[in-house]
Amino acid sequence: MRKSIVAGNWKMNGNLAANAELVTGLLSTRSGSDNVDVLVCPPAVYIPQVAALLQDSNISLGAQNASAFEKGAYTGDLSLSMLAEFGVQYVILGHSERRALFGEDDAQVADKFRAVVAAGVTPIVCIGETLQERQAGQTLDVVSRQLRAVLDVADKATLANAVVAYEPVWAIGTGLTATPEQAQEVHQALRALIAEYDAAAALKVRILYGGSVTADSAAQLFGKPDIDGGLVGGASLKAKDFLAICSAAA
Ligand code: PEP
Repeated sequence: MRKSIVAGNWKMNGNLAANAELVTGLLSTRSGSDNVDVLVCPPAVYIPQVAALLQDSNISLGAQNASAFEKGAYTGDLSLSMLAEFGVQYVILGHSERRALFGEDDAQVADKFRAVVAAGVTPIVCIGETLQERQAGQTLDVVSRQLRAVLDVADKATLANAVVAYEPVWAIGTGLTATPEQAQEVHQALRALIAEYDAAAALKVRILYGGSVTADSAAQLFGKPDIDGGLVGGASLKAKDFLAICSAAA
């Protein structure tokens, strides 16, 4: 019903030689299977390089962040039109590292969401609770607040195309993975929340799990009814591991 997606978030890793090797590895071994959307999100400076390597392939290109503004005095930022010129089709928004290290809040994520959608690019909205919030029993409150911020500005016509990534902060880069049951509980609640805004869109929005997904944990996670694929950090830097995760989603 919903096509799976697996997105690789390279974070601030890579260089010209390593990127070429990684993408070549992905392209040489990826099967022609088209029942999963696969994308990679390199550091912005490498987007032109990776766009050229991916040309005419069945792997898409994403960015890790984008400005909410169109142009002007925003030193260091990159606009959606700039990214789109280089073939960027997806943008990760509100990653927990940007929230924690760069002070991005729900309002900024909502502004960026609006800009991404207006540019015809697909947003991948990241939400997730910290360990402290989970232990305090606040998980659903936190992720609902983060998702509502975006749903409140979403347009009915485009909401169904948006992608949500549930990424418990305690699972990102830690080697700890939410159990498939823990993840499914949250995904189901997120879909129910989307349904409060638009029941038809809720059935179509793809909700990814992220947080130390590996080739070993992927199949069980993706087997849950509301988990539509993964946002993968560390394991996306090795072609073999990333492709195994893509296969688990197919
Ligand atoms: C991420 O960066 O979004 C992520 C999930 O990282 P990792 O897979 O390394 O936990």
